[in-house]
Amino acid sequence: MATGYPQPVEVRRQDGTHIIVTWDDGHVSDFTNHYLRAKCQCAACVDEWTREPILDPSTIPADIHAAEISVVGTYAIQPVWSDGHTTGIFSFELLRRLCPCDTCQQSAQETGA
Ligand SMILES: [Zn+2]
Ligand SMILES: [Zn+2]
Repeated sequence: MATGYPQPVEVRRQDGTHIIVTWDDGHVSDFTNHYLRAKCQCAACVDEWTREPILDPSTIPADIHAAEISVVGTYAIQPVWSDGHTTGIFSFELLRRLCPCDTCQQSAQETGA
């Protein structure tokens, strides 16, 4: 792969509670809407300089969902959240890093250590 990291072949909203991403290496990431909304890295949610979280996850509505998901160029997705938040962009690289499955969380810990 030229880009060096996996690309999503499909981004699917499921049951109003999940976002399922299928990757070109066959991996499937199953995000809950709430999890992904809480991980938003935009300037309104994370301080650009200190990287301190501004967003308090407890303020995210329990029924948060992506009303729409647009693709930004060839490198990211931008969800339109039901709470009106639209400025969060998830690059494919970030999205893959956020994959909540055991395999990805384990390898993230290994590389981060
Ligand atoms: Zn945000
Ligand atoms: Zn994974």
